[in-house]
Amino acid sequence: MYSSPDTPGMPPPSGKTAWDFLPDGWAIKVDPNGCCGHNRGEHPIVAVPPASFTPVTQLEYARLGTITDAMQRVAEREPHLMPEQVRDEIAAGRMVIPANINHLAGSLDPMAIGRASLTKVNANMGASPVSSGTDEELEKLRWSLRWGADTVMDLSTGGDIDACREAIISNSTAPIGTVPIYAMIIDRKLEDLDRESILAGIEHQAKQGVDYMTVHAGLRRAHVPMVKNRLIGIVSRGGSLLAKWMLTHGKENPMYDAWDDICDILRRYDVTFSIGDGLRPGGLADATDQAQLGELETIGELTERAWRRGVQVMVEGPGHVPFDQIEFNMKLQRRRCHGAPFYVLGPLVTDVFPGYDHITSCIGATAAAWHGAAMLCYVTPKEHLGLPKKDDVKQGCIAYKIAAHAADVALGIPGTRDRDDELTKARAALNWQKHFDLSFDPDYARAMHDEDLDVDTDFCAMCGHDWCSVRISKEIQEFTSGKDGAFAWDKPSISAALSDEQRAMLEQRGVLDPAEIHRLAAKTRRSLGEGEERAACHSEVADAAAARDVQGENGVELVQLGTHEISGVPDHDPVI
Ligand code: SF4
Repeated sequence: MYSSPDTPGMPPPSGKTAWDFLPDGWAIKVDPNGCCGHNRGEHPIVAVPPASFTPVTQLEYARLGTITDAMQRVAEREPHLMPEQVRDEIAAGRMVIPANINHLAGSLDPMAIGRASLTKVNANMGASPVSSGTDEELEKLRWSLRWGADTVMDLSTGGDIDACREAIISNSTAPIGTVPIYAMIIDRKLEDLDRESILAGIEHQAKQGVDYMTVHAGLRRAHVPMVKNRLIGIVSRGGSLLAKWMLTHGKENPMYDAWDDICDILRRYDVTFSIGDGLRPGGLADATDQAQLGELETIGELTERAWRRGVQVMVEGPGHVPFDQIEFNMKLQRRRCHGAPFYVLGPLVTDVFPGYDHITSCIGATAAAWHGAAMLCYVTPKEHLGLPKKDDVKQGCIAYKIAAHAADVALGIPGTRDRDDELTKARAALNWQKHFDLSFDPDYARAMHDEDLDVDTDFCAMCGHDWCSVRISKEIQEFTSGKDGAFAWDKPSISAALSDEQRAMLEQRGVLDPAEIHRLAAKTRRSLGEGEERAACHSEVADAAAARDVQGENGVELVQLGTHEISGVPDHDPVI
């Protein structure tokens, strides 16, 4: 289990797991091929259901000791996990595979969410009544998967909402989540929502193949008065709608009342719960208040009840939380919900940077993942301001991939730092192409580099030739070239320079036009005393003899130091 060490005073982990919440009539027996990672003593165990029982959900299969194809696939995708571990974590309720049986039969490539696996990122999308449509949302789906989203939530509230959902599910290899109450009140007044329409709406989406659903059943009538002293009240759409329904009818939350029936529908299709946080704080001042914690208490109860009915559960969390309160929030959820995966929105750690909330929130998200969150819901630069467009989706995905990856490295999940180390080696070797290839966004990295200097040299425009510490380090050590093994000065590589796409990126930055970029590159060359010509050390013009001269001008005598074994570079350099 990957999480930060507890700071003194944090709520300790729960002593219970999903094994404490088996359906009525089930027993447990010791089985050498059964599950470990439980809280029932030393021996592997399996659950023993009534004779007529047929498993449907990944949780039920796991309880019976079965490793499903989906569990196998998760272990393939995350080599630090064995299929048995995936099964054991699911059986304990600490991991979910959101895989609706209908989506699994189609395009879905199963993935897992849980603290034993890599931190996952969700991207929200969806048409609103004033913006976007199905084609644009499908493009956003492709775009968010391109930029690393592990799951996608369709939060459409406008357009042809049913067709849009259908199209998104059938085109997605990633799990799709929804908030079913949105569709329930299209063409219907909120006040007219009743148990039958709620169950029908949920069943309809489950049949379509939705993999996980946000259900705001934890917000109870007794919690509503607790928000009166908040600065910004209820900011969850689902939460505010259900609070209004409760005040209008003077009744309990219908989602709470219908919970067991909702569980039974979700079980039939193996839809995973994402129990909604209708009372999440919408500003720093409202964080960790009585309303939020009261709802979390109920969410713990709902988690136990869903497990008793065989349904996989994850839990949604805040929101806007001061940095120093994040660990407490993560560890309180771990205790109240017995380790069920925590799926958090941000949290934003300051409220005064609208337009930059992908940054304010990815700082909180990194801390949340470090302290135990299993999935991070991205926030885009458009948060609080409007419906995200394609580039906002990219910016949100990248910010959250950074948060998730930073946390995974800090948590020491095996293999997570390998690519960082490879990129560091390429950077040390001034091997620009490999540097870019290993980057999360190679085109952007190349464009940023080529903006100033559109050739591969043993320095970049940041410091220039004489001040390039990496180049000097290479001289100090033995890597005079440090390029690929196949590289030699008499076989110069010519940079691809600016592609059309890179040129477009730079134009989009609104900083430099292509003519200016080339003028600046020429300026850099002039500053090297090379006029409009390439500097002599540029790899595409320097032959072996010229390179020796250039290096020799600095009066540095180059020697082979034999450090190749620890530095991992070729043991012979043709220049020396
Ligand atoms: S010039 Fe500066 S920034 Fe560029 S590679 Fe060398 S040390 Fe790094």
